[in-house]
Amino acid sequence: MCETCKTDAPELIRRRQLLGFASVLTAGAVFGVAPLRAMADECAPFLADAQAATTPDQAIALLADGNARFAAGASLKCDLLAEMTATAEKQTPFACVLACIDSRSAPELVFDQQVGDVFVARVAGNLPTTEILGSFEYATKVAGAKAIVVLGHTHCGAVKGAVDRADVGANLTVLLDEIEPAVLATPLEGERSSKNHHFVEAVAETNVRFAVAALTEKSPVLKAMADAGAIKVVGALYDIETGKVTFLG
Ligand SMILES: [Zn+2]
Repeated sequence: MCETCKTDAPELIRRRQLLGFASVLTAGAVFGVAPLRAMADECAPFLADAQAATTPDQAIALLADGNARFAAGASLKCDLLAEMTATAEKQTPFACVLACIDSRSAPELVFDQQVGDVFVARVAGNLPTTEILGSFEYATKVAGAKAIVVLGHTHCGAVKGAVDRADVGANLTVLLDEIEPAVLATPLEGERSSKNHHFVEAVAETNVRFAVAALTEKSPVLKAMADAGAIKVVGALYDIETGKVTFLG
């Protein structure tokens, strides 16, 4: 049992979750989106009632709140085994994150989320591949997640490779070619080189915006849900030097 967890009994956690979110529903009407989970036990597993009561905006707010904790060095210390037990029968995460494989940008850490909170897909350059589109169609349409965040990051090796036109092997080259449209669409000031820091970060942002657009352009399922307000699809950039995530407008 961890210091900040108030129980090590899954049954009690489930009960607290129900009681906690009943009060949060009332509080949410008064205070808006931010207090959704803050007023409940932040270590409580995210169960079906919580998911059903969460709006797409609130799902984004939960991630933003988690990143604020992470960047402040105040990440939660929850009982992961208790959460594992509580979510073993069924998972009901509130959001999906598409991130790069970069070892410094793990979404569960960056957004300070726990077992059962988020679906995560990772591929170098956070590209929305067909498999990832299908994964997120499942995560939202079938499993009920309310938001999708495409998380790019600063100092991205995949973006740098695309900028430099790195050619180290057939499959990697194919992957980097997928980032090429973002390279070409980004205004270039100075040389096209990974040493051009400003350009690399600008391409990373363009790449995220392209991925956000592709999620609904290439998936009629996600587009229909987004148009109906059932989900929200947004981009964000993680600064590996500050720990802070900036959501793109
Ligand atoms: Zn990267």
